[in-house]
Amino acid sequence: MIEDRTERCLRLAQEEHYCPHCQQRLSCCQAPPFHVGDGLGWGSDILFICLNDECSLYVRSWQEFEDRYGHAASCRYILCPGNEKGEAMMVGGQQAFKGLEVNVEALQQQNQRHAAEQEAAAKLAGCVEAGDLAPVIHLLTDEHADLATRKQACEALARFQDLSCLDPLRNHKFRNPELEQEVNLAIGTMLKKMYKKECPNCAEIVKSQAPTCKHCGHSF
Ligand SMILES: [Zn+2]
Ligand SMILES: [Zn+2]
Repeated sequence: MIEDRTERCLRLAQEEHYCPHCQQRLSCCQAPPFHVGDGLGWGSDILFICLNDECSLYVRSWQEFEDRYGHAASCRYILCPGNEKGEAMMVGGQQAFKGLEVNVEALQQQNQRHAAEQEAAAKLAGCVEAGDLAPVIHLLTDEHADLATRKQACEALARFQDLSCLDPLRNHKFRNPELEQEVNLAIGTMLKKMYKKECPNCAEIVKSQAPTCKHCGHSF
């Protein structure tokens, strides 16, 4: 199985590498989109970098660039994953690479969200028969879930007769207007099957034959 990008990031972020110049642990960073040095690309989306501002390589190189070339630049120690030895990489300023550290917590959250989506998607097939609305609601209200899977959830929704779907779906802000419309259609189908309708004035559910809404008095 091909390792997922998030899993690779997480795995690499657990690895411990140390700077040979200052012995501090290297930070696991996302590589910037271009190679500052030779334009060849990083060869890796993850890099280990010494971000220690007191690092002897960094401090010394700062001075060397100043003395030799008269311009403000320095070097940081950088190691590509899988390599034994790193190299000195020129940086234009103290902030270079900072803020690119892999955010382990955010990645773990992404992983959890993805696992929950997979779990809900796996339950989708038999959910109508099982009377289990939960995976449908989960997928429809997860804006990061796969759109095709969410549309399948929407088709399943239309086959339920369960008004408990109304609150979570109505309270959800759909970013995809097309999906939102499909959800509304599915709810309409469900209400019809249950001989119910939604009051356009107060959004309460009433019997489909009712001439007026018993909640707000609206006449149909
Ligand atoms: Zn260092
Ligand atoms: Zn009403």
